[in-house]
Amino acid sequence: MPKVLPITTYGRDILRKVAKPIKDINIDIVNLVDNMFYTMNAAEGIGLAAPQVNEGISLAIIDISSLDEYKNEKPLVIINPRIIDTNGQSLVNEGCLSIPEVRGDVKRPEEILLEYTDLNGKENRREFSGLLARVLQHEIDHLNGKLFIDYLSEEDLEKNKELFKKIKSNKIVTEYPIYNSKSKP
Ligand code: ZN
Repeated sequence: MPKVLPITTYGRDILRKVAKPIKDINIDIVNLVDNMFYTMNAAEGIGLAAPQVNEGISLAIIDISSLDEYKNEKPLVIINPRIIDTNGQSLVNEGCLSIPEVRGDVKRPEEILLEYTDLNGKENRREFSGLLARVLQHEIDHLNGKLFIDYLSEEDLEKNKELFKKIKSNKIVTEYPIYNSKSKP
């Protein structure tokens, strides 16, 4: 049975580290992916990277099919992803399960060309645009120790200042289990 994993929140070191490449897609990885989908759905997220469940490895999942206009989009598992090329630019309001309640506009390329390994070990090269490209870039940032708040304007950072303090001092309340900066591991 898959289980809900606690989500690491802003302030924990693992969210700022570069994830390690995965060499062998073994049963532990397959089970982790199962648990990550279960965790993401329970938290009503549309993307989740391994460092967000305290695993410093280059793996993320995406599923935007809970949104009406994307209900035919298949869930994605990306392993060791590399963005090869980008095109265009758009400004979209983002949030993150690791930074509860904080929102802000982030400028990113509109389209990406991505290489990644899937859960079957197959190499893929695919173009993505729109919301999928957006979520993929957000999750791939997590694998590089980067967070969406790194792109926010001074004004947006100022607006969210109290929330950052609340998260770092473990006073944030979430509807999903979290690892805050005091809990182990
Ligand atoms: Zn995130």
